[in-house]
Amino acid sequence: MPASPSQSVLSFEDARRVVEDHASQLSPGAHETVDLVRAAGRILAEPVAADRDIPPFPRSTRDGYAVRAADLAQLPVKLALKGEIKAGPLPGSAPITLNPGEAFSIMTGAPVPAGADAVVMIEYTSRERDSVEITKQIASGENIVVQAAEANRGSLLLPRGLRLNEAAIALAASVGRSRLNVYIRPHIAVLATGDEIVDLDAEVGPTQIRNSNSYSLAVQIQEAGGEPVLLPIAPDEPVRLRQLIEQGLHADLLLMTGGVSMGRYDLVEQVLAEMRAEFFFTGAKIQPGRPVVFGRVPCGAGAFASEGLLQESNKYFFGLPGNPVSTMVTFELFARPVIEALAGMSARPLTFLHARLKSEIRVKLGLKRFLPAILSGQYENTQAELVPWQGSGDIAARVRSNCFLVIPPDREHMRAGEWAAVLLR
Ligand code: AMP
Ligand code: MG
Repeated sequence: MPASPSQSVLSFEDARRVVEDHASQLSPGAHETVDLVRAAGRILAEPVAADRDIPPFPRSTRDGYAVRAADLAQLPVKLALKGEIKAGPLPGSAPITLNPGEAFSIMTGAPVPAGADAVVMIEYTSRERDSVEITKQIASGENIVVQAAEANRGSLLLPRGLRLNEAAIALAASVGRSRLNVYIRPHIAVLATGDEIVDLDAEVGPTQIRNSNSYSLAVQIQEAGGEPVLLPIAPDEPVRLRQLIEQGLHADLLLMTGGVSMGRYDLVEQVLAEMRAEFFFTGAKIQPGRPVVFGRVPCGAGAFASEGLLQESNKYFFGLPGNPVSTMVTFELFARPVIEALAGMSARPLTFLHARLKSEIRVKLGLKRFLPAILSGQYENTQAELVPWQGSGDIAARVRSNCFLVIPPDREHMRAGEWAAVLLR
């Protein structure tokens, strides 16, 4: 068996950049048309444009009186009341026009008549039979959203690659789209490895560990827009491991967990090297998750290449460390952007929030740390503090946390009250 690939351990930022560069080269697969509400959370596969101006007419934003601001130079002033305009279809076919010295009673959401350039709120008026008295000055344009102020007819409202949230669904609804074209979710294979790992319905021996990584990954994959495909657990044995890796490479991306550390039975990298894998990194200077591996394997070649039957293509893979919290963290930091790209989503930077430390932190230098933490406090006084844990195998500590606190590699001491970066999860 060939030796493992030469080790290349990158800083967090370099490793992340490598992943982002590769993700930017990926394109999504097929698309489908689904009902509007079903499209929520999916990635838009078509641009959506305004079917008319938004708003389609100058819209009153208040209940009150449509006027000409110039008529209110001297106060109080009496204006002739010419009628009422409510939201919805207007009576008659002729457009309504307002002349100097006149006012129309108008409701929120109703079209402002031609000639009017402001709406006075009802609070600053008193109504008589055929007139209205106005007691407050107003600037031209006040309480009116002019036609097309929000968007011109034909302009782009929702770009391809957008993840559809409730606001995007509302905007699509506002332009009459009852169905939307969205990308089909990429298939992401999940392969847990390890002789000690057993699946949930099997009897668990005293020194065996139940497979939890496949399930946390399945959840994260779905959230990232992918469709998880769980493979059987691979033993720490190269022949069966290779079989299952080959099976996993039929998916759009393969995520493996375990078997990437320096132990004698950590065979994932060896087996991939045998398969002529290219490794972009075999570690990142982070904790948890240092042994994380990213690469790609030529596929479709192998047995058929010599016969020229299949063109060679590449499939990406991640070898995520087996410790459950490491698996979850490395997914967020590295696997997510690749899945989002395969799902058709436009790239977005990884962003951190900031919170003040509730208590001091001491760690060793050299690794960028993403440690389970709790954000607490209220409103602007949010504070962050580490959750006590037994290391990266401690799933229960991760459950008690609601974020990861980010500690830079050059800080061994952070004081209480200092601002610290936080990755919300
Ligand atoms: P490894 O990366 O294979 O050295 O595994 C590191 C630790 O993670 C070991 O304690 C494993 O038992 C544990 N582990 C590996 N895979 C899983 C899994 N699928 N579910 C839960 N724990 C795992
Ligand atoms: Mg293992």
